[in-house]
Amino acid sequence: MKQVQFAYQDRKSFLEKLRAFQKDHETVSGARLFQIYSEVLEPSVIQDVTGAIEECFPDTPYIGCSTSGNIIDCELSENITVVCTDFELPTTKFEIFQYDMAKLSVDEITAQIVEETRKNPWVKAVEMYFTIPEGSTTRFCDGLKDLREDIQIFGGVSCSDDITSDDSCVFTKAYGFSDSSIVIVFYGGEDFHVDSIKVTGWKPLGRQFHVTKSQGSLLQELDGIPAYDVYHKYLNIKNDENFFYNTLEFPLFYEHNDTTILRTPVSSNADGSINMTSDMDIGSVVRISYGDPSTIVESIRHDSRRIAEFGPDILHIFSCAARRTFWTNKEPTYEIQPFRDISASCGFFSHGEFLRTKGNLNQHNVTLVIAAMREGGKKAAVVMPEAQDMNTLSKVPLVSRLANFISVTSLELENTNEQLALVNEKLKMAAIIDGLTGLYNRKEIQSQIEDALSRVEKEQFSLVMLDIDNFKQVNDTYGHQEGDSVIVALADILRNRRIGQKQNVSSGRWGGEEFMVLLRGTDCNSAAYIADLMRENFANTAFKDIRPQTVSLGVTQAKADDTVDSLCTRVDMALYRAKKNGKNRVEVE
Ligand code: GH3
Ligand code: MG
Ligand code: MG
Repeated sequence: MKQVQFAYQDRKSFLEKLRAFQKDHETVSGARLFQIYSEVLEPSVIQDVTGAIEECFPDTPYIGCSTSGNIIDCELSENITVVCTDFELPTTKFEIFQYDMAKLSVDEITAQIVEETRKNPWVKAVEMYFTIPEGSTTRFCDGLKDLREDIQIFGGVSCSDDITSDDSCVFTKAYGFSDSSIVIVFYGGEDFHVDSIKVTGWKPLGRQFHVTKSQGSLLQELDGIPAYDVYHKYLNIKNDENFFYNTLEFPLFYEHNDTTILRTPVSSNADGSINMTSDMDIGSVVRISYGDPSTIVESIRHDSRRIAEFGPDILHIFSCAARRTFWTNKEPTYEIQPFRDISASCGFFSHGEFLRTKGNLNQHNVTLVIAAMREGGKKAAVVMPEAQDMNTLSKVPLVSRLANFISVTSLELENTNEQLALVNEKLKMAAIIDGLTGLYNRKEIQSQIEDALSRVEKEQFSLVMLDIDNFKQVNDTYGHQEGDSVIVALADILRNRRIGQKQNVSSGRWGGEEFMVLLRGTDCNSAAYIADLMRENFANTAFKDIRPQTVSLGVTQAKADDTVDSLCTRVDMALYRAKKNGKNRVEVE
C-alpha cells in the first residue's frame, strides 16, 4: 500500500496537483481509493473536492468525513486533506457501503453488514465512519457481535472543528453526501494483513462510584446523588462555561466488555445531571480518571511497539478531539509522533472511536485507535525507543505520585469497607439464625409470626409446632453429640423445598428439640397435610448409629383476633394432644 496526500486549497490548484499525480502514476497494479478529511462541512466545498477527483479519476471510489482536525503522517493538517491510497497487490480488495440512519433502523444496518461479510469471506477488516449519532451506539455495537470472529473493526465518529457541536457529515462516491449515515469500508484479500489497538493513557483515580441513574448519554446519578455533585465535591469543578475543559482531564473510567472505556462530561444541567460524550449503562462501576501527560506519552510509546513489530504499510489513526484539546500547550499530535517513524499514516480527530476488542465492538471516547495495515510480508521493522516503565522512572512528576497515592489509599479503603460489609452481613445473620441448625432462631421466627399476624386479614397462614419424641432417651443412650445430629436431620427436612414454596415458608428452632414452621397463604387443612409429610419424612430418616426417631406435631390456623401469645398457646396445645395421643402424629387445634 502506498499513500500520497494533497492539501486542498482550492479546486483549481487541486486539479493541477491531481493531474500531475495522474501523470506520474499512470500504471496502478492494484485498486485505488481516495479519502477526504475535511474540517469544512459545507456541501458545496466538499463537492468542489469530490468533483475534481471525479474529473481526473472517474472510476476511482472515494470516501470522506468531516473532522475536528486531520492527521497526516502524525502531523496536524488543517482545512481539507485528500489522501490517495494505492493497493499494490492484485489480491487486495476493498468495498464501500453507506447506510442512511434516517432510513434504516440500527438493527437493519447491522444485519446488512453481517450479511455482507458472510457473502464476502475475503473481508479481514471493517472500517467505519459515523456521523454523530443521536442516541446510544451500544445497540449498533452489539449488533456486530455476530461478525466473523477474526474480522477487526475500527473507526471514528466524524465531527466538526467545534468539539461541542453536533454537526458532522460523511460522503462516498456511490451514495453521496449525508449528515446522518454510516460509511463502511471492507478491506481484505489473501495478502492483506491488519492489526488494531487502542491506547488511552488515562489512569483511574480514587474511589469507585456506581452509575445508579442514566439515560443513554445523560448521566443522572452516581451512587444516588446527582453526577455533577461528584465532580463538584471531589474536583471542585464549577458548573460554568469552563466545565467541559475542566472535566476533560478527569473523564470517567470503567470496565465494559472486558476492556476499559472512558467517557467525558460535555456539559452539566440544572438538575445536576451531566451530558456525557456517549452512553453509560446503569450498574457500571466507574472511577474518575486522570490524564497525566508523561503517563499518556509512555503508554503510547509502550503500545506503539506492537504496531512497529507488525511492520505496516500505512496506519489509520482515530484520535479523540478531546485529546487534541488536552495537549493545549503542545503540538496537537505530540503524543502520536512516535508512530511517524513506523509508516505513512492518515486519520482524524473524532467525536468517538470504535474498536473491536475480544469479539466486542465498543465506542470509546478520549481514546486513540490505531489500525495498522499492510500487503504481503512485514515491512522492515523500525526499532522503537525502549518504553520506560513509569514506575522505574527516576524523576516521576509530583502529580503522578499524588495520583498514585490517592489510588492506593482508596483501594485500601475499598478493601477495608468490603471486609466491614462482610462482617456486618455475618453479624446480621448471626442475630437471626440458629447456630446448630441454620434455621431462624426463636426471636426471628416470633417476629415473622407477628408480621404475618398484622396481615392475616389479607393473607391467611398456619403454624406447625414440632417436638422430637422421647429425645431425652436419645441423649441418654447415644450421647449429646448424636442427639444433635437428630436435631439437625429434622431441621434439614423443614428446610426442604418440596414441603412448600420457599418464600412462603419460614422454619425456626423454638428451643431444644422444638421447632416452629410458619406457612403463609396456607389454611389448616393444607398445613396438616404438610405437617404429616414432615412427620413421615422424619420417621423414615435413617441414622448411622441410631434407630429411626419420631416427632409429634401440632397445627393451627391464625385467626384475625389472635395475638402471638394466643396463637402459640393454641399450637402448643395441639402439640400436647399429639404427645398425649401416642406421639408420632399430627393434631389440629
Ligand atoms: P417427649 O416425647 O415428651 O418430648 O420427650 P422428651 O424426652 O423429648 O422430653 P423433653 O422435651 O422434656 O426433653 C427434651 C430434651 O432435649 C432435654 C434436653 O436434654 C435435650 N436437649 C435440649 N436441647 C438440646 C440440644 O441442643 N442438643 C441435644 N443433644 N439435646 C438437647
Ligand atoms: Mg421438648
Ligand atoms: Mg421432646
